Amino acid sequence: MSEDQRPAWLPELDLRAVTRNSDRAFTRISVLHNTYRHVWIRAGLLSRIELNPGKRQWLGAYYDHGIADESEDSAYAFQIDVVGLHIHMIHYGVTELHGWIAAESDDSVRFKVPRTVPDLETFEWCRRCKGEKSHRVTTYCPPVDLKLYERLRGAKLVVEFGPVIPEDER
Ligand SMILES: [Zn+2]
Repeated sequence: MSEDQRPAWLPELDLRAVTRNSDRAFTRISVLHNTYRHVWIRAGLLSRIELNPGKRQWLGAYYDHGIADESEDSAYAFQIDVVGLHIHMIHYGVTELHGWIAAESDDSVRFKVPRTVPDLETFEWCRRCKGEKSHRVTTYCPPVDLKLYERLRGAKLVVEFGPVIPEDER
């Protein structure tokens, strides 16, 4: 039923193969559109969730180990700025947050989510770090996607995360 209602412009982004600890931790981010909930992003471990009210609220997940930016900081597979992020409930070890994609005019510059899963093999190797320290390089975050932002700004998000439990079909 709900898949019939899925907007064609909403990517289905499965980043589990390129984010950390996907065998043990899952993240699922869904968008509410015309009262239906559609999965937008799947990933492994969320690296950071800032939900302090009154401050910049955002969440993001790093790429796998070995993917860094030019200053050797771990690079994010995505970052999303949100507002009103709060814990909706915790059920069977799954924490469910609700919030809305930040929609102020200057929030567009912080909407950093790719539409497709990047091929990490295409990222250049760092020229400075050799041997055991060798790693690939990309930007700290993916580039801003203004077109997708225009569709999603202000949309309600459901963020679920928890442990991967074997034989679980979630
Ligand atoms: Zn390096």
